[in-house]
Amino acid sequence: MKYRRTIRELFRFRFFFSLCAFCLFHTGASAQSVKPVFQYTVSMPDPANHIFKVTLNCSGWGEDSINLKMPKWMPGYYQLMNYAAEVEHFSAKDKMDKPIAVKALNGNTWQISNTTNGSFVVSYDVKTSRQFVANSFLDSSHGYIIPAGMFLYADGYIKNPVSVKINMPAQWKNMATGLEPVTRKTNEFKAPDFDILYDCPILIGNLEELPSFTVNGIQHRFIGYKMGEFNRVQFMDNLKKVVESAVAVIGDIPYKEYTFIGIGAGRGGIEHLNNSTVSFDGKNLNTAAGMNTTMVFLAHEYFHHYNVKRIRPLELGPFDYDKANRTNGLWVSEGLSVYYEYMIVKRAGLSNEQTLFKNFEKNINAVENNPGRLVQSLTQASYETWSDGPFGRQGKDAAKSISYYDKGPVVGLILDLAIRHSSENKKSLNQRNRLQHVPGLCRTKT
Ligand SMILES: [Zn+2]
Repeated sequence: MKYRRTIRELFRFRFFFSLCAFCLFHTGASAQSVKPVFQYTVSMPDPANHIFKVTLNCSGWGEDSINLKMPKWMPGYYQLMNYAAEVEHFSAKDKMDKPIAVKALNGNTWQISNTTNGSFVVSYDVKTSRQFVANSFLDSSHGYIIPAGMFLYADGYIKNPVSVKINMPAQWKNMATGLEPVTRKTNEFKAPDFDILYDCPILIGNLEELPSFTVNGIQHRFIGYKMGEFNRVQFMDNLKKVVESAVAVIGDIPYKEYTFIGIGAGRGGIEHLNNSTVSFDGKNLNTAAGMNTTMVFLAHEYFHHYNVKRIRPLELGPFDYDKANRTNGLWVSEGLSVYYEYMIVKRAGLSNEQTLFKNFEKNINAVENNPGRLVQSLTQASYETWSDGPFGRQGKDAAKSISYYDKGPVVGLILDLAIRHSSENKKSLNQRNRLQHVPGLCRTKT
């Protein structure tokens, strides 16, 4: 298995469905009669110990008790992560600083009773041990926060606004996130609801920001940790071409600003509405092949802000963070994004036909040589990803499953060719054309 393929598969996280059932992402805040205030503070007094200190200040709570829950998974990575297992030293107190009893209801829910005075403070630690794009991590040189594994939501109040303040070590200088800053506050951010909070990881440390670029007047940034030596100007010039090429597929940019967040060495990336977190150390950017591999990787994560974040299966919205959100349509979200990652980079002028055909050849060979193609369909592979894993089953059952990262782009190619053939090349798989013809498909700006 090549690095290129492994990378792509490692960070595929996503869902969704049916070509004719696409619908737009954000559901909007639901009406709630009570609007409590949730204010989080994250501190890291001893980063070498790998522990985040989290405090939740809640006011305006109008019920006798509250159930606080840690999500079991994060948007973009469709595996149960058991984030709650990393929580330690959970405690609560009232506004008079008097301890309040806490009851652990199950593996990821804490119930706090006696909240009748409306205000309380919850404190807990989040220990970190694994450097991975879907896990929070803290060490002496940087911090990486996966909000779904850091911030509890109140059961029934997922659409409530929330704010986060970051107290970082004095020797660190900056942070990167897709969250909106709080006006006139330093290192404080806000989200209109917990879905948006969980969609915005936070990278903290002595980060480097590369020269930004604009597309259609909208700023695109790349901020990273330990990015290594490479030609930054050429890299950002290429990345701009990739973004322009991807935007041309849809014809619209639905965010105010976009940030690529490089989290350091590793494998994998996760897409979000206005940002993506990508394993990135710049090491392979000094060869043409390495630059191409990286651009294809970034094109994939970037294109997901359309295909899966805003155009997605109905089963994926609103998210239920308490269980696996199964869908038959993940192959569309992932497989067609693989198809477009090839096409975007080719249309950007950063690869040639030979490279394009080699990519398809690799996928076709992988499909044809896998006995699992006779056992598992694309929709079945989509539905079973929570149990099969992002790459399909491993070990003795590997031949009983397929990878939608291989078969998906092949089907995408066939679909595109079929549409072009039947319409005398007047239409294609591109959303720009399909938007006018697919019932139920809508789009909006966020
Ligand atoms: Zn993906």
